[in-house]
Amino acid sequence: MKLLSAAQLQEWDAYTIANTPIASIDLMERAAKACTQWILKQPFLKQPIYIFCGKGNNGGDGLAIARLLHEAGITPKVFIAEFGKPGTDNFQENLHRLHVLGLPIQYISSENLLPPINDDSIVIDALLGVGLNKPLSGLYALIAAHINTAKATVIAIDVPTGMYIDQHTESTNIVKANYTLTIQCPKLCFLIPENAAFFGQVQILDIGLHPAYLSTIDTNLQLTVLEDIQQCIHVRDAFSHKGQFGHALLIAGSEEKMGAAIMATGAALRSGTGLVTAQVPASGATALNICYPEAMLLMRSNTIDNINHYTAIGIGPGLGVNTDSQQILFNVISHYKQPMVIDADALSILAENADWLRLLPKGSILTPHPKEFDRVFGKCVNDFERLHKALALTLQYPLTIVLKGHYTLVAQQGKGFFNTTGNAGLAKGGSGDVLTGIITALLAQKYEPCIAARLGVYLHGTAADLALETEAEESLVATQVIAYLGKAWNYVKP
Ligand code: ADP
Ligand code: ADP
Ligand code: MG
Repeated sequence: MKLLSAAQLQEWDAYTIANTPIASIDLMERAAKACTQWILKQPFLKQPIYIFCGKGNNGGDGLAIARLLHEAGITPKVFIAEFGKPGTDNFQENLHRLHVLGLPIQYISSENLLPPINDDSIVIDALLGVGLNKPLSGLYALIAAHINTAKATVIAIDVPTGMYIDQHTESTNIVKANYTLTIQCPKLCFLIPENAAFFGQVQILDIGLHPAYLSTIDTNLQLTVLEDIQQCIHVRDAFSHKGQFGHALLIAGSEEKMGAAIMATGAALRSGTGLVTAQVPASGATALNICYPEAMLLMRSNTIDNINHYTAIGIGPGLGVNTDSQQILFNVISHYKQPMVIDADALSILAENADWLRLLPKGSILTPHPKEFDRVFGKCVNDFERLHKALALTLQYPLTIVLKGHYTLVAQQGKGFFNTTGNAGLAKGGSGDVLTGIITALLAQKYEPCIAARLGVYLHGTAADLALETEAEESLVATQVIAYLGKAWNYVKP
């Protein structure tokens, strides 16, 4: 699913108006209807409802919602931020329709006209939408701050006022919404952690914009959805044998961190590869064998015989950062010729030896969380900068970068795919080790690196989501995610 820029969203409206055909005012009416229906269904519905409107199209939505609520028997208090300039045509038309009904409207032209807001009430933020083109100032800044001091339930229409939909918002003067009703499609701003404090729960309301528009545009960012995943799954031939599914090698674990190796191995075993070998310290071999007798073992050493006979290597979970592990990583990347997965301590080693980036086998996958990303590539001042840096790096190097988080980004060749599965139950030690095992096993089966990464993060998140049938996010543990990989595979297979 493509993620559109602010300009493309406006183009999509125009395309729909030209090709449906539908009048612009009727499109606004559809959006307002969808919002109103959602609001009327909420168990928290209460009065009074305050609607704050700008004089653009977002404000027009707000006025139409006011009229539709009134028709449903709830008369809201309507406020318009007044600068003296007339509003957009659709705003003016909706204002006229409210006047005809005789609904009282108050204009806010200065701070002393800000209305007191009851604690137990609802505020609808229809000040500014996707058209935001400069930081909030003056009256808008005052109204946003005023809304934020109230204890009301805040519902933002399309996007909380003050937040850019496709770039970093410098100011923190943004309306803090409990709910954001966003029109037609998800927006980039709702995937970015730094914005999470402002948008609350996001609801996407379909207003039937013309679907053909999407095939006319190119976007470098997308969401990975189930259909994308289903299309890329390899079908297992009934007459197949283990030799056809590759041999994954995991170089992981150390005396203190054997669990990481065990979890990565278990996850690899449950992700379709024919054979799994784990290279671990001798002291951890028995533990690994008891947990996963299906895996083969190599004892830890700095060199690996016949390294290219493994069809993929995953290195890093629990490996430790020391001269030995540095030597292992160096030897592996100097001799191995196929795409591999680099995670955890292997990333920290890479951070200390930046020139090794160039040595990594073509097609390799790096799986940093944001802190590891900054360690390897330098400190980023905000999440948008990190996103753009990750994309740019994949144009500079023949690598895939998996930037982990709630919506994990898979970047390759300047394109980015956000994952849509997973939950905060994964915010625990061991979750990443499981992911490394999964992706290594997929690479071993000859999934293309970008597909291996996208499928891997999707499966990982799906397993965590399905595990919530018996677990709470609090109780979910990484080994349980491994146990749910079977259900996850069955869920994603076409
Ligand atoms: P839409 O939702 O259709 O994009 P908006 O309600 O967001 O429409 O309105 C955008 C209008 O608001 C534009 O005319 C723009 O010039 C103006 N605008 C954008 N950002 C600001 C701002 N920070 N302060 C005041 N006006 C703004
Ligand atoms: P560890 O190294 O302890 O195993 P990582 O930080 O490397 O953990 O990886 C954590 C994994 O869990 C990543 O795949 C990440 O996307 C996932 N994860 C963490 N928190 C969340 C969250 N709130 N929502 C969804 N996924 C999450
Ligand atoms: Mg990790």
